[in-house]
Amino acid sequence: MKVSELNFLVVEDDESQRGMIVKMLRALGATSVREAGNGKQALEVLHAGQGQPQDIIICDMNMPEMDGMEFLRHLGQEKFTHSIIILSALDRALLTSVEKMSEGYGITLLGVAAKPISRTQLEALLARYQRAEVKPPPPRAAVRVFSLEDILHGIGAQQFEPFFQPKVDLKTGKVIGAEALARWRHPQHGLIAPYAFIALLERADKMDELTFMMLRRSAVACRILHEKGYPLTVSVNLSLTSLADTTLADRITRVVRDAGVDPQYIVLEVTESAAMTDVAPALENLARLRMHGFGLSIDDYGTGYASMQQITRIAFSELKIDQSFVKDFTDHPAMRIIVESSIDMARKLQVKSVAEGVETQQDWDTLKSIGCDTAQGYFIARPMDLVAFHDFLAGYRPIATSPVSMQEWGKIHVLVIEDDEFTRKMILRVLRELGYTDLTDTDSAEAALQLFEADAFGLIITDCQMGGMNGLEFVKLIRSGKTRALPDTRIVMLTAFSKTEVLGVALALDVNGFLVKPIVPAELENKLTNAMSERVHLRPPIAYASINTELTGQPITAQPAGRHAPSITLDRSTTRPLNAHERQLTLGELRPGMTLAADIRFSDGNKLLSSGYTLTESSINRLKDMEALLQSKNMVVRENVLQG
Ligand code: C2E
Ligand code: MG
Ligand code: MG
Repeated sequence: MKVSELNFLVVEDDESQRGMIVKMLRALGATSVREAGNGKQALEVLHAGQGQPQDIIICDMNMPEMDGMEFLRHLGQEKFTHSIIILSALDRALLTSVEKMSEGYGITLLGVAAKPISRTQLEALLARYQRAEVKPPPPRAAVRVFSLEDILHGIGAQQFEPFFQPKVDLKTGKVIGAEALARWRHPQHGLIAPYAFIALLERADKMDELTFMMLRRSAVACRILHEKGYPLTVSVNLSLTSLADTTLADRITRVVRDAGVDPQYIVLEVTESAAMTDVAPALENLARLRMHGFGLSIDDYGTGYASMQQITRIAFSELKIDQSFVKDFTDHPAMRIIVESSIDMARKLQVKSVAEGVETQQDWDTLKSIGCDTAQGYFIARPMDLVAFHDFLAGYRPIATSPVSMQEWGKIHVLVIEDDEFTRKMILRVLRELGYTDLTDTDSAEAALQLFEADAFGLIITDCQMGGMNGLEFVKLIRSGKTRALPDTRIVMLTAFSKTEVLGVALALDVNGFLVKPIVPAELENKLTNAMSERVHLRPPIAYASINTELTGQPITAQPAGRHAPSITLDRSTTRPLNAHERQLTLGELRPGMTLAADIRFSDGNKLLSSGYTLTESSINRLKDMEALLQSKNMVVRENVLQG
């Protein structure tokens, strides 16, 4: 649902603050915004507005007459179904308990934000509402219940396979391993995630059927990857139920050795609850596995109730911090403390710390700054089959070091390329006003290439249409590694938004922003901030080298990497029924790594992205930049990448 279709109620006693929030909401597109000065007034508004539900209530805590807590209690008691955003100047610990209290009253809390809330924060919270809306009902596969016979038959028919999710070293940004996660390619129902079959197998004591298939195929995959030049470790999950049989360790060792893999490249993940079991056979198995050289990981750490002493009974080699802590830890100090102390403990025990559920650049940066060793999560990639994982490795470039902090941006060496002298001077002036001091400018791409011989730039702002080499060709040379500049140098392109052909090619070249002439200072600042903070995930050089950058007036489309551009298609149909393994998402729901299942077009009919294209953070951000120009706000992506 669009922001313009939502109803808002802002409950805040301070008039100026309330005004600010209302203004922000309107700027974000809200059309229905009501106001109240305290909880009592808010309840009156709610009671009076029967049949006209306020979808989202933004509520201060500390207010006269009826404070926020009392208001929330009334909401809970009267079973109002609105979603709430709590705003407050109260300290974090108190806000966290308010959060818990709301949960207790059965209130849908979108989030808690310290005052004053910024527009981006507000936007993110609203996006959460929009996401939650589409989540239930879950994908059909999620609610489908399979019988044990179905599952065992599927395993026998080799319909199960491991999907691989990369684990990346936070220091170097390099892929060092992968976790194998079971997936069922059901002939009728598509890709099925583990929760649909694991519990059932465990209860029926049939887990070994799956475990050994996973082990064998993961070990073979490991060997293949080694042969292809990727010396990765592969992690396989073990169920507690399997650990009861004392022959397990030897059987596992045999399977792995038979696949031609040294056990040191296989990590076995056991959950914290399995690790704390007192059952001697489990301990015996784990000790023997370690003795044979396997890595042992404590999975989902923090969700069980293991004591340090229990944990240390096992000679484990890796501590995997549960994603529930990582998920929100950047804005929940208590979560962050748990993550930090887990990492600290791992360091002291001389085992590796792994954070799972790393979803954003911010998660990545924070984990890196607190010394976590390894990261796994959607931010890097979703689990994928072996072929896709191999392609991923082939195209992978180490994740960039954390984006430069605000204060340091001024020191970035910026190159401005613009043939129109007036515009160039204007940009330079604005940049100086914004505090950038290290500036170089030139009037042609050719001259810029000369500059690369002696100079390195952190940011390039380039015009598109220039005499001589055009800006797109210039960017293509950089991205495909044909210049002295780093291929992943951040690049912002100056262009007119009416030129959809240019936008399409620039997007395919993974530029980090568009600037529309004439330049507006506030917009320039915004665009540069975004360009410097988004994650640059480049495709292999060949993917750029094959892009047509001639400005012929014909639409040019970003193709899936590795494929050649097909002739321009005249098929302009946009709506078609979704196939079983496709899902429709809004722009705000797109995530890096998702693969398009349908073309994205401009409203003039020109194709922007082709089906099969894998999204990156940059391309998603560019789509958002161009939102107003798109034919549809809904994108179709492939389900398998979604199931994670
Ligand atoms: P796990 O071992 O903790 O695996 C991590 C789970 O988190 C995976 O879910 C993965 O897809 C998901 N995940 C990874 N990154 C992110 C992220 O950034 N955000 C979010 N929200 N989720 C992320 P999946 O594949 O559905 O597996 C669920 C669980 O099923 C696994 O949790 C594991 O306990 C179990 N499992 C999967 N395969 C096997 C298997 O072969 N054997 C056993 N015994 N258990 C398995
Ligand atoms: Mg695991
Ligand atoms: Mg886990």
